[in-house]
Formats: sequence, C-alpha cells, structure tokens
Amino acid sequence: MVVTEAHRIDPTMLREYDIRGIVGETLGTDDARAVGRAFGTVVARGGGRRVALGYDGRLSSPELAAALASGLQASGLEVLTIGRGPTPMLYFAVHELGLDGGIMVTGSHNPPQYNGFKMMRGKKAFFGEDIRRLGEIAAAGDFADGTGAVTQVAVFDDYVDRLVDIYRGKRELTVAWDAGNGAAGEAMAALVGRLPGRHILLNETIDGTFPNHHPDPTVEKNLEQLRQAVATHHCDLGIAFDGDGDRLGAIDGEGQVLWADQLMVAFAGEVLEDHPGATIIADVKASQVLFDEIARLGGTPLMFRTGHSLIKSKMAELGAPLAGEMSGHIFFADRYYGFDDALYAAVRLLGILARGDETLAAFRARLPRVVNTPELRFPCPEDRKFAVVEEVKARLAATGAEVNDIDGVRVRTKDGWWLLRASNTQDVLVARCEAADAEGLERLKRDLVAQIEKSGLSAPEF
Ligand SMILES: [Zn+2]
Repeated sequence: MVVTEAHRIDPTMLREYDIRGIVGETLGTDDARAVGRAFGTVVARGGGRRVALGYDGRLSSPELAAALASGLQASGLEVLTIGRGPTPMLYFAVHELGLDGGIMVTGSHNPPQYNGFKMMRGKKAFFGEDIRRLGEIAAAGDFADGTGAVTQVAVFDDYVDRLVDIYRGKRELTVAWDAGNGAAGEAMAALVGRLPGRHILLNETIDGTFPNHHPDPTVEKNLEQLRQAVATHHCDLGIAFDGDGDRLGAIDGEGQVLWADQLMVAFAGEVLEDHPGATIIADVKASQVLFDEIARLGGTPLMFRTGHSLIKSKMAELGAPLAGEMSGHIFFADRYYGFDDALYAAVRLLGILARGDETLAAFRARLPRVVNTPELRFPCPEDRKFAVVEEVKARLAATGAEVNDIDGVRVRTKDGWWLLRASNTQDVLVARCEAADAEGLERLKRDLVAQIEKSGLSAPEF
C-alpha cells in the first residue's frame, strides 16, 4: 500500500451526523480532499460508481467543493456536480438520477465561518459509525485509486418542477418567504414565481455572510423580520428556511410561530387520508399533542430518537410515509423520497391551507391546549452527559415513574411530561417540559431541576 495521501481529519470535525469544522482552523481544502478520497473509497469498494456533489452559499463552499471533487475523482468515482443549492436538491439528485451516493458541502445553519459535509450512500444516510470509519480510512491513507471524472449536471429546473407539480390549491394565498440569505434562496424564488397567489420574498439572495439574520428558524428572533412582513402585507402565513433548506419554520397570519410538532399535526392529517393507519414518526422532543393527534386521526404514532439521520433510517425501515423533528426537519415519503426537504414541506403546507378554508392561525387555535417550554439546552461535560441521564433513569426507576427511554428519559406524569436527553452533537443536555396548565408546568420544571441537581449539575435558567 502506498501511503502518500494519509491525512488526519481533526477529530472534532467527525460528528454524529456530519463532518463540520471552522474554515481555516479545523477545516481546509486538504481536509475536503481527504474526505472526498475516503468517502469515494467507501463508495467504490461497495461497488458504487457515481455520486452527486452540491454546495451551499457559504463563501468557502466552492473551494471546498472543488477539493472534494478532486478527492472523489482520485478514488475512481464519476462526480456529478449539481452546483449551488439547498441540501435537499442534492438528495433529490441522488434519488432522481439513481446515484450511488452524494455529498453536500454545507455548514447548515451555523455561523459563516463554519462549513462541513453531509453525506448519503446509496439512498441511505451516512452517519455515526460510517463517519468514524471515514476518518480512519483518511488517517491510514487506505484509499481506493482510480480514474474518475467530474461532470456538471443541471438538476435545478427538475427540482423546482417537482416542487411546483405537487402543489394543489383552490384558493389563493398571500405568503411571506424568508430564505435567510441561505442556499434555498434561488430555488425558493424560482418556486414562488410559479405558484399562484401573492408572495413576498425576503433574503432570497444567497449571501454567505448572512447579513440580515442568522438562518436558523428554530430561534424565534430569526423570525422577527418574517413576522413583520406577514403583518405589513396581511399574509396568510410566513415560511422560513434554515441555511441549507432542510429545516422549516412557519408563522401564522397572527404572527404566532407554529413549531414543527404543530405543523406535523397538519401534515399527518393529510398523509393519513391516503395512508390510513400508517406509522408516523416524531422525535422524543415533540409535544404529546402530536402523538395523540396522530392516534386520533387513525395513525400509529411512533416516538423515536432525535437526529435526522436516525429518523430517515427508521422511516425507511418501517415504510413510514411521514416523519418530523422539533428541529424543523420534516420528511415525506408520501409522494416523495423520504428525505428532509423544507421547500417540499412548505409546498405541502400551502396546499393543505389552499385546499381548505381554515387559516393556519385557526388551525393552531384548534389544537389541544397545553403549555410547554421550548427546547432547553444547557452545558454538560462530554464525559458526564450520558452518565447524568443514566443516573436520572436509575433514580426514576426506583420511584416507579412512567419512563420512555428511547432517547434519554421522557417521564410521563398525570398531566404532562418532561424530557432529559444528551445531545449527540454537542456537550449539552437537552430538556423540555409540557403540562396541561402553567401550574403543572412549574411543578414539572421543579422535578426536572431536582433531578439535574441530584447529579451535581447546576440547573438551567428557564
Ligand atoms: Zn440544515
């Protein structure tokens, strides 16, 4: 074996669901080439030949994509470059063109200095052990060699066509859209230009410095500009995308945020009409209202682990037509391929509203009333985060509490629940509480804080 290209990828970059680092510090073009070499090796040794490559709107992305392409090519792969666009457009290319995998250069919703890679092998998410193995291959320089090729393919128009095709509506809506200057901007503008109704576009110009606000719609302050536009233009709703277009945010005509677990109730209602009894998956952070509503609508709710790669895998395993995460990743396998595409989810949402008479605000008001916290995140040392959850679980077991431990502990009480789980991607613990009323919520928060303090941590502010 000739070990000329062995390259150690900074271990902090090899994360659970993607590879990510700070450009110029942990991540450079040499790393991108090594990732291409190693990923290309995995695909080639598995008998694969053709992969798609796309990149987001970050300033560093074109250069990283070029280095990545050279690495993939050196491992013998035919690289189909799809250019700049949202991550779901890359997934779309892999499915639509029947490729053996794909890599997206994206820092998702992270600050401008970040960048990284999301991968799929065949039609499956490439994560966890796959990523660790990729790091080992690069460090050993254990690469496949071959003569590949780099070819440009145009998928943008096909992608937008597909999004337009699935829209069905009988009344025209007024909609504000905010791409946050992220990679979804161009596709969003092309899509919206072909939908009926009145549309107001915000931050549709792709700009890797994110000059207007951070492209993360799960943080409410990032929705402020959208909320203003909805009010000014008397919109039916507002839609926001994260930096690479795989996560969705929405606000109704009254300016209220609908979180992903609320939007999922609407999506489940529609999907279950065509797939009665189907399994619908949501992550462990989702409101009990969602699970109850799925059951009430005749579906089979499944609470599963947080993590877009884990959810995609579970969905494929069970043949579930729909899944969603609190983080805004929504996955449709009904009339689509089962990956997280926020533009696709947005069109489905518009369709649901435009076929009916109910506004999004009225839909929200009709949901069963609960009070809950947002997702709470607080620091916990890496070597303690899983241990703390285990300690809490052990203490709860002694009390006979009703606990779901699919991902951390989700404790069900007579009027609500609380969750404590360790993040797979950061040194934080994640918590959430939900109750029937404010008083109940305070009690659940106290229960949660007491457990955290028993494990020697200081409780989060909430
Ligand atoms: Zn994203």
